[in-house]
Amino acid sequence: MNSKKVIITGSGLGGLATALRLVTKGFDVTILEKYHRAGGRLNLLEKDGFKFDLGPTFFSMSYEFDELMESAGIDYPFEFIELEPLFTVNIDGIPKTFTIYKDLDKLAAQFEGIEPHFKEKMEAHLKKTGTLYHDTINRIVHRNFNSLSDYITQLTKVPLKHSPLIIKSMWTELCNSFESKEARMIFSLVGFFLGATPFDTPAIFSLLNYIELKHNGYHNVKGGMYKIVESLVEVLEQKGVKFHYNTEITGALQKNGSLFALTDQHDQKWIADYFVINADAAWFRGKILGNQKYTESKLDKMKWTMAPLTIYLGVKGKLDNLQHHNYFLGNNFDEYAKGVFKNQVSFQKPYYYVNVPSKNNPEYAPEGYESLFILCPSPDLRYKPDWSDRETIAQNIIDDLSERSGYPLNEMIVSKTILSPEHWETMFNLYKGSGLGLAHNMNQIGWFRPANKDEKLNNVYYVGASTIPGTGLPMTIISSKLTTQRLLDDIQKQQK
Ligand SMILES: Cc1cc2nc3c(=O)[nH]c(=O)nc-3n(C[C@H](O)[C@H](O)[C@H](O)COP(=O)(O)OP(=O)(O)OC[C@H]3O[C@@H](n4cnc5c(N)ncnc54)[C@H](O)[C@@H]3O)c2cc1C
Repeated sequence: MNSKKVIITGSGLGGLATALRLVTKGFDVTILEKYHRAGGRLNLLEKDGFKFDLGPTFFSMSYEFDELMESAGIDYPFEFIELEPLFTVNIDGIPKTFTIYKDLDKLAAQFEGIEPHFKEKMEAHLKKTGTLYHDTINRIVHRNFNSLSDYITQLTKVPLKHSPLIIKSMWTELCNSFESKEARMIFSLVGFFLGATPFDTPAIFSLLNYIELKHNGYHNVKGGMYKIVESLVEVLEQKGVKFHYNTEITGALQKNGSLFALTDQHDQKWIADYFVINADAAWFRGKILGNQKYTESKLDKMKWTMAPLTIYLGVKGKLDNLQHHNYFLGNNFDEYAKGVFKNQVSFQKPYYYVNVPSKNNPEYAPEGYESLFILCPSPDLRYKPDWSDRETIAQNIIDDLSERSGYPLNEMIVSKTILSPEHWETMFNLYKGSGLGLAHNMNQIGWFRPANKDEKLNNVYYVGASTIPGTGLPMTIISSKLTTQRLLDDIQKQQK
């Protein structure tokens, strides 16, 4: 039994998963959370009799959750729903709606008359990206790096044939794989899942197509995504983890190269042997710990992922024309994708994603109603500080969706909530409203991403989207594994 005390700042999935691993190892764990409930971005909005997943609506790499439960020796506290089809795509000006299936024959049928020899081309794309996935997942993604040379050594173990994918963009790779603009656009959407565009995302991330179409698919959770959080909190509380909500860490007391205590908004001191920070790993270093490598002007020069404009609608009537996940794109993909995050395109006709959570989870809406979530990837507060036009942008989207889905939504809406990047920044301390944290360009991944151990303070660790390996729910679970490993290795070294 280990009686060392750990304080985790933040109850996002990264914080919860780390708490589960540490409490299993016998640590005395306390979680401090600024929001009024657990989950961070993986949260729930309840309003007017409707429920909405606040942020994440699906995930891939479900086996990372398996690993977490196995490592803690617990039964699965929630149940997956595997999605097939995965999603639909509607492109403005093209009458057909594309339905994206994992089943390659069904998928190929969608591209008949559009992309010659689609199945062969997709098989080749999946073979290439699948090999890359299997050649990197354990060498790079599931690893802590102790130095730059350690990172380079690992990179040299990745077969040389993959090196063009480091230099190329995802878009270039897709242009090599497919001829039609439709196939190129649709299979580059995984770039947006990383919170960026296919034009500035390295081609290595095309491996997401392999993970999603072949390796693991997409998953939702029975009872809604927030079941992940509710069930983990229940397990953690049973194991003795203490939660303090509405507690925002605003300061830090350092002593002889260690962190002695964190202080909250009421000046209460929180003392522990070890501290795990689940707040953004770059922002926290600068804002709370005063690390000069992460001042606001330096953070502003880093590359951040898209900021979300999110709309939550309760509607009267059923929306049978929509699937669980739907993308609505315009007909100016290059221009839009290249300009949107720099606020260089008009929001007259935005691109957006629509999720109907009540399709898989009827308890999300009263009978005869549907709950609808819309995400419009938008510029962060560096590029668009003023969101007083959010109602207008939301109305543009609702009008566009009404026209393209064939439902008179304006007449059907009974509940409406709009969250702009300003809200997202305030709710969870997301830097300038960036929804997925630091971006994944080559100089912000691996050794170059903010590390999961503080450079100066020997008892401070980080977990979550802006440290290694990266963003998204499965990556956050991997992050918790790497952070726990790092902390346990340090303790072992100290004991020698
Ligand atoms: C709109 C949206 C949609 C998304 N969709 C998907 C999806 O479909 N699938 C997917 O896999 N990923 C998705 N993501 C990404 C995913 O949500 C994140 O990668 C993941 O949830 C990050 O978890 P985390 O633990 O790193 O951070 P967070 O969830 O941000 O948790 C950090 C916690 O720390 C707290 N905190 C911050 N500062 C302090 C402080 N000073 N004191 C106390 N507490 C503090 C915050 O309140 C928060 O609760 C989406 C993100 C957004 C915004």
